[in-house]
Amino acid sequence: MVDEAPGGVRRIVIVGGGTAGWMAAAALSRALGPIGRSVVLVESDAIGTVGVGEATIPPIRAFNAMLDIDEDRFLRETMGSYKLGIEFVDWSRIGARYFHPFGAAGQDFHGVPFHQLWLRHRARGGTTRLTEYSMCTVAAREGRFGIAAPGDRTPLAHIAHAYHFDATLYAALLRRVSEAQGVVRHEGRVVRVDRDGEHGDVTALLLNDGRRIAGDLFVDCSGFAGLLIEGALATGYHDWLHWLPMDRALAMPTGRIDPLPPYTRATAHPAGWQWRIPLQHRTGNGHVFASAFTTADAAEALLRAHAPGDPCGDVRSLSFTTGMRRRAWSHNVVALGLAAGFVEPLESTSIHLIQHGILRLLALFPGAVVHPAERDAYNADMARAFAAVRDFVVLHYKATRRDDSAFWRMVQAMTVPDSLAHRIELWRAQGRLIPQEGDVFQVPSWAAVLTGQEWWPAAYDPAVDRLNAASVEAAMADMRAAYRRTALALPPHAAALPAAE
Ligand code: FAD
Repeated sequence: MVDEAPGGVRRIVIVGGGTAGWMAAAALSRALGPIGRSVVLVESDAIGTVGVGEATIPPIRAFNAMLDIDEDRFLRETMGSYKLGIEFVDWSRIGARYFHPFGAAGQDFHGVPFHQLWLRHRARGGTTRLTEYSMCTVAAREGRFGIAAPGDRTPLAHIAHAYHFDATLYAALLRRVSEAQGVVRHEGRVVRVDRDGEHGDVTALLLNDGRRIAGDLFVDCSGFAGLLIEGALATGYHDWLHWLPMDRALAMPTGRIDPLPPYTRATAHPAGWQWRIPLQHRTGNGHVFASAFTTADAAEALLRAHAPGDPCGDVRSLSFTTGMRRRAWSHNVVALGLAAGFVEPLESTSIHLIQHGILRLLALFPGAVVHPAERDAYNADMARAFAAVRDFVVLHYKATRRDDSAFWRMVQAMTVPDSLAHRIELWRAQGRLIPQEGDVFQVPSWAAVLTGQEWWPAAYDPAVDRLNAASVEAAMADMRAAYRRTALALPPHAAALPAAE
C-alpha cells in the first residue's frame, strides 16, 4: 500500500453519474485506490441520466466479478433477469423470426467451423436451423434457465449468459460499491472547464455553487453532451448516420411479463425496430427509429400497439447521432459511455464498450506523465471496438429482403463500410467468417445473424467434404437431442432467479 502516488496522475475526476460514470468510479477506485490514486465523481441531479440501457452481453459478468459483486446480489438489487440472446422478429422478411444466442452453435469438427457443416446439411436438404444446435437458443425457446456447476461437462456448460437490469438501480449499486472504496461524490452542475494555458490540459471544473474540483486525469462520462471531450476540447465526431440512420428512440415501461422470457426481443418496424426487455418488476420497451422516414407520432403509435401491456410510466424521447469521437482520449480527458460515442442499441453493446474502455484505460494508465503512444494505443483500440460493433449492427439492416418501406429499401441498397463489405464477400462466396482484430462478436454470432436473416452463401467450404457426411449428420442429431433434453430438465427462468431476501 502506497500512501501517495509518486507523481503524475494522482487525482482522477469523473464527470457524470450514469452507468458509465459509476462503472468507471467503481473499477478505477478498486484498481488504483490501493496504489494511492483518488477518485472523485461529479454529477448533477437536475440534469439526470439517460436512464435506459438495460440489456447486456456476457462480458458484463467479468466486470461484476472484478468488483466482487455476487450474481445473486446483483440480480436482486437491480431487479435483473438472465439473458440468453436476442430474438429477432420480422427482420429478413415480415413473418420471419430467428434467435441470436450467446455462446456457440454446435462444435467445430476437426478444425471445420460448425456453421460450415450445417451449410452442407442444408445443401443436402436438411431442414433444421443452425441455432437448434445452440444450448442458449433451445433453453430460451423453452423459457428455461440454468447454470452449470464448475467442471460440469454436460451440454449445460454451453450456456453463456448476460443480464437485463434496471440501469438506474445498477448505477445506484455501483455508487454504493464505489463509495465503500473511497470515491467522493460531488453533486452539482459543471458550469466551467479550466484548462492549462500552455498544454491545453483540463485542470479543474467549476460547479454552479462555486466549488472548484481540480484533477490530473478527467474521465468524461457526461453523456451525449460530451462536456469535456467535445465542449472543452472540441475533439470532433465521426458521424455514421449514413450507415445507421436511426436517430430517435421512444422508451416506455410496461408491467412484468409472465412467464418471464430469458431473452431480449427486437421487432422490426417500417422505419426502425422495437425492443422488449423483461425485468423482474417491469418490462422495458422502446422504439428506435429513423426520423427521416417516420414521425414521432407514428413511432409512438407502433410502440404502444406492440407493447406487451399497458404503460406503467411516461414515454421518454431520446435523440442521438450514431458515431464516435475522433479521439476517445484527448489531452488528459478520457471519454467513456455516450460521451465517447453511440451505436444504436440493437445488439446491447454500449455498456460493453464502457467496460472495454475502462479495462483498456487501466491497462494503459499513465505513470508520471501521459505518453502520447499510450494515448494513441487507447484511441486505436477503441476505434476498432466501435467499428466492430458498428459493422455487426449494420449487417442486420443490409441483410434484409424487406422492401415494404422506403427505409428498408434504402438500408438494403446502401454501401456498407469496406470492413463489412469484405466480410460479406467472404460469406457470400463460401460461407467463410474470418475473425478480425477488435471483434466484439465472434464467428457463431455472425453465423447466427447471417443464416437467421436467410442470406445464403453460393457454396460451403469444400474442406467440409473431407468429413464423412453420414457420421457428421449422426453427431449433429445427437447434439440436438442432448441440448433439447438438457433444456427440458431446467427450471423456468423466473424460478432460476434468486429469491428475494
Ligand atoms: P448518462 O446516463 O446520460 O449520464 C450522464 C451523466 O452526466 C449524468 O449523471 C448527468 O447528470 C451528468 N452530467 C451531464 N452534464 C453535466 C454537467 N454539466 N454537470 C454535472 N453533471 C453532468 N446500452 C446497452 O448496453 N444496452 C442497451 O440495451 C441500451 N439501450 C439503449 C437505448 C437507447 C434508446 C439509448 C439512447 C441508449 C441505450 N444504451 C444501451 C446505452 C446506455 O444507455 C448508455 O451507454 C449508458 O446508460 C451510459 O450512459 P452514460 O453514463 O454515458 O450517460
